[in-house]
Amino acid sequence: MRLLLLISMTYAITLVAAQPFPIDTIQWSGPADKRINFVFLGDGYQQHELDQYIKDVLNVRDHFFTQSPFDHYRDYFNIVAINVPSNVSGAARDPNQLIDNYFGSTFNSSGIERLLTATKSSKASDILFDQFPLFDQAVLIVNDDKYGGSGGWLATTSTNINAPEIATHELGHSFANLSDEYWAGVQFAGETPNMTKESSPNLVRWHEWIQTNDVGVYPHSEEPSWHRPHQNCKMRVLNPPFCPVCEEAITKQIQLFVKPLVSYFPETLNFTVEDEKLVFQLENLLPQPNTLSVRWSLNGELLEPNTDTLSFESSLLLEGENYLDVLITDTTPFVRDDEHTIGQQCNVRWSIWLDATTSIFVEDPVGVLLYPNPIVDFLNLEWVSTQPPSTIHLEVLNLEGRSLMKTSLPGANPISISLQGLPSGQYQVSINDGTNSMVYPVIKL
Ligand SMILES: [Zn+2]
Repeated sequence: MRLLLLISMTYAITLVAAQPFPIDTIQWSGPADKRINFVFLGDGYQQHELDQYIKDVLNVRDHFFTQSPFDHYRDYFNIVAINVPSNVSGAARDPNQLIDNYFGSTFNSSGIERLLTATKSSKASDILFDQFPLFDQAVLIVNDDKYGGSGGWLATTSTNINAPEIATHELGHSFANLSDEYWAGVQFAGETPNMTKESSPNLVRWHEWIQTNDVGVYPHSEEPSWHRPHQNCKMRVLNPPFCPVCEEAITKQIQLFVKPLVSYFPETLNFTVEDEKLVFQLENLLPQPNTLSVRWSLNGELLEPNTDTLSFESSLLLEGENYLDVLITDTTPFVRDDEHTIGQQCNVRWSIWLDATTSIFVEDPVGVLLYPNPIVDFLNLEWVSTQPPSTIHLEVLNLEGRSLMKTSLPGANPISISLQGLPSGQYQVSINDGTNSMVYPVIKL
């Protein structure tokens, strides 16, 4: 009996694990490990109300991306919605009288009527870790039109007419660790990006914003030892935008999660080139409007700025090793903290070796390319801009000018000459096309 029970329990557990809740992709901008993933859950939606749940998610999402700075970084986010049906609709009114919704959502948490929380939030974390472990922020929409919400790892909102604004405010708490800018009670007071005991405008955390768009150091009248940066921020009242201080905190958080550089080409960072055109490309995730600064520099000298593609001829390179650097900076006006901006820069360095000795092409009367150089056994001559002459007179001299080899050959292109008989060393190759002559330095290995 006992064994049978164990088997049936195992079966039940397997059955649960094998039937994940359906996931709707609301917005997919890129790989989950390279984006900020917002995962929605719903509570108090019965099976037949799940269509409405998706509409409620879209409603919150659409509003959220009209709010600055989120609207500038839309492509930095993936948004999915997990469909979890409840047995009953709505939320409880009292944490002591829970109803049979899935996550135990109730108003009046901690005795605060509008504080809507999920008392069974571990069920939410189980689903998230099982079905979308790369989630960065979870948002719970509770199918109840009473005004309410809460922050925390599971930002919560109801379906009240203000739900999209409440959700955006709660995400300010959850995503960017912002405090309320109304007085929420001493238990919620703390040093956060938008709350401080520091009263000096010169020393306050947001000193770079003082006098910009009404940013100041405003004491809370209920508890004047604590201060807020603004009188009319979304973290204080619904509907106005986030104040510049909150906007900066959110932007910094977005930048910490997602780097704008997606990929670069060529992927090889060390290579050798000869006489050729070089092309480099970046794929960047662009804020809207685009605030990325892209600075290319070759051996420390700035090239064209703000292009994702760069091409140049290898003649720009120095013989030997060259460095091509590209530095990508998000110059958004939302962030005034230079230290953060510098910390968030991405760069790529290619090390390019110009093997100038492999090809000596001299604009000369003969106009011949000699390769390879150094020579192992054979030296090739190639006329790249003109036809070869009908007869080629070639002479190899040592550095003292003594002739070691002298020959005349019928014109061909290219032409290959054996230097196998010569010992290793430096030589001069003289080529005469019947009218002009030119001397080229070569090395024999
Ligand atoms: Zn604010």
